[in-house]
Amino acid sequence: HADIAMYRAKEGGRNQLQFYEAAMHSRITERAMIEAELRHALERDELSLHYQPKVDLRSGAVVGMEALLRWRHPTLGMVSPARFIGVAEETGLIVAIGRWVMRTACFQNQQWQQAGLTPLRVAVNVSARQFRDPGLSREVQAALSDSGLAAHYLELELTESLVMHNVEGAVAVVRELKQMGIALSIDDFGTGYSSLAYLKLFPVDYLKIDQSFVREMLTEPKVAAIVRSVIALGQSLGFKVIAEGVETEAQLAYLRRHQCDEMQGYFFSKPLPAPEFGELLGAERALALPAEETPGARQ
Ligand code: C2E
Ligand code: MG
Ligand code: MG
Ligand code: MG
Repeated sequence: HADIAMYRAKEGGRNQLQFYEAAMHSRITERAMIEAELRHALERDELSLHYQPKVDLRSGAVVGMEALLRWRHPTLGMVSPARFIGVAEETGLIVAIGRWVMRTACFQNQQWQQAGLTPLRVAVNVSARQFRDPGLSREVQAALSDSGLAAHYLELELTESLVMHNVEGAVAVVRELKQMGIALSIDDFGTGYSSLAYLKLFPVDYLKIDQSFVREMLTEPKVAAIVRSVIALGQSLGFKVIAEGVETEAQLAYLRRHQCDEMQGYFFSKPLPAPEFGELLGAERALALPAEETPGARQ
């Protein structure tokens, strides 16, 4: 095999080659194991959703939530989405799992509303495979009508690479979903290849600035410039802009100063199991916003 030969030539020696083969083997084994176990995760009731608040940066109020999939396996313990979403995509299992996520998020949200909590929008992540599935809008419709949730309380998060992959097809699906009254956002914005020309074609509501930018924006002036530009560009195109992965008060203050609309991150709350998220909503917990700065302190 060419790359193995190259690897051998580069590193030299048999030990490295054996190590490389062992690593390849264990990756394959891990993948096969995840796949085999994931096939039964739904029926064995091992999946659940955690919810992370989305917070308005002007008022500090919780204005929405993102549903994030969690898998607790009896022997593997908690398996992170990074380890299994890709496998679910490749095998097509994501279609059934995604349907479960959509329905569970809609039913849970409707239940919170019926319990008298302030009605808030719930965002669900949609993967490429699901997005290409011709049954998507029918399934979204079924989840809404079966749960009784009004369409404008559901938001779908689509990644940038997903929508940019087949722009014409994506625009058609996005328009169809928008017509149903569903909110849409572009997730992980800035990590894929977006053409600004295409961006204007998508009738989405939100751009989500990827957490990698938020992480570096206070130490890398160029990253800060990107963040400020995405906020300005997004807003001038009519999108709201939300920052992901906000972990510190300094990051929060910077985003507020530059008029970012909303944020999500550990600084306010990690994703929480449904009962705890319900308590947080009931307590009407708000973000303690840093004091407004004096005009002279603005940069
Ligand atoms: P994402 O949609 O971009 O979700 C944001 C991820 O960042 C979540 O990781 C969340 O727990 C994490 N996060 C939130 N705040 C912070 C923070 O302040 N700091 C840091 N370091 N991380 C933070 P998670 O739950 O592990 O999910 C990872 C990815 O897996 C998601 O990225 C999404 O692409 C995918 N995923 C999760 N649930 C689903 C699902 O139901 N369906 C599909 N198709 N994909 C999902
Ligand atoms: Mg997301
Ligand atoms: Mg994201
Ligand atoms: Mg992400």
